[in-house]
Amino acid sequence: MNTFDHQHIWHPYAKVPNPIKSHTVLSADGVCLNLEGDRRVIDGMSSWWSAIHGYNHPVLNQAVTEQLKKMAHVMFGGLTHQSAIDLAKTLVTITPEPLNKVFFSDSGSVAVEVALKMACQYWYNQGKADKHKFVTIQGGYHGDTFGAMSVCDPSNSMHHVFSGILPQHFFVKSPSVTPMDEALADLEATLKQHSGAIAAMILEPVVQGAGSMRFYNPQYLLKAKALCKQHQVLFILDEIATGFGRTGELFALEYVDVEVDILCLGKTLTGGYMTLAATLTTDEIAQTVGTLMHGPTFMANPLACAVANASINLLLNSPWQDNIARIEKHFYDELAPLKQNDKVADVRILGAIGIIEMVSDIEVEKTQNQLIDNGVWLRPYGKFLYTMPPFTVTDDELSIVTNAIKVVVNK
Ligand SMILES: *Cc1c(COP(=O)(O)O)cnc(C)c1O
Repeated sequence: MNTFDHQHIWHPYAKVPNPIKSHTVLSADGVCLNLEGDRRVIDGMSSWWSAIHGYNHPVLNQAVTEQLKKMAHVMFGGLTHQSAIDLAKTLVTITPEPLNKVFFSDSGSVAVEVALKMACQYWYNQGKADKHKFVTIQGGYHGDTFGAMSVCDPSNSMHHVFSGILPQHFFVKSPSVTPMDEALADLEATLKQHSGAIAAMILEPVVQGAGSMRFYNPQYLLKAKALCKQHQVLFILDEIATGFGRTGELFALEYVDVEVDILCLGKTLTGGYMTLAATLTTDEIAQTVGTLMHGPTFMANPLACAVANASINLLLNSPWQDNIARIEKHFYDELAPLKQNDKVADVRILGAIGIIEMVSDIEVEKTQNQLIDNGVWLRPYGKFLYTMPPFTVTDDELSIVTNAIKVVVNK
């Protein structure tokens, strides 16, 4: 433990000083983190969904150093550069039609803010300034900035302190806990009554991540989109966690090829190397939005764009579907049987995501230390012990991860 860190630096969702000590990472390579004290652990979290190719990857390193020789950064106001152009071309190509316009920003939360602004400006410019509210499903997570927080699950403890000062939006039943027809009926009733005030629906496709760690039937997306269209409400998908292969499809929306008006990407975009996000939309929406009122200082940072290009190439030229299927099968074989354990409420598996929901809250520090003793880094929160390893993880490394999970669950 580093004393200065402990005394002075905030960590995510933590106190300073933090009662739970942070581990110092000296370096990382392959799928492993090298921790102080000569401990080498497999990163079962991919640094929060992002490091899909593992660490210190020669191809990604090279992309950064080549860009570095040209320039690390230039402002994007009035200037452009090849790395941003290449990345935008790729994103337009690999995302479904008609997503043709790209806005780059620094983080997932900002990509969500931009999506919300696009939706509001779209209606404002058509003389419908009253359409500035959002509808979303319960149990969602869209980031930590104010606009993004306002569409996160309101009863999830993460942001409840701000409930009095956040703009109020519409929360409908989630298909991940409510039967789909009932969830759709709730959405339809809300749209019927309030669509005059609603700019857009925003939701995570198929996987509700940090807000509730649940999955739902992708058919919901098709029906929700149809209802939104019928009631003149835009449809925003937040693929910040699910994008780039994690669920077994390149984008989770491809389970049903749902049509989307605005799409948010982040996390995995740079293969976990740097912070970068993107908001994509259609020609028609971009044209109606006109001048988009947003422009981050580090917009389309060249280093981040260069490594994003390399990461997407690496992914698309790898047998990623086979890797995800292999990881999923391993989770079914090794983690699904944990359902029998009395302390386990549920086990949920999809693609390269494995979630153990315990009956009670997990003691984070104790569990984390046990996991480290078993060679694995995981970051449990609440009742959830979950893993989404780099796609390059080998079968032997996967066994180390699932064995460590079994050890702490069965303890
Ligand atoms: C992580 C996440 C965000 C926020 O991204 P940051 O880069 O942390 O700001 C938004 N939406 C979803 C679905 C996420 O998983």
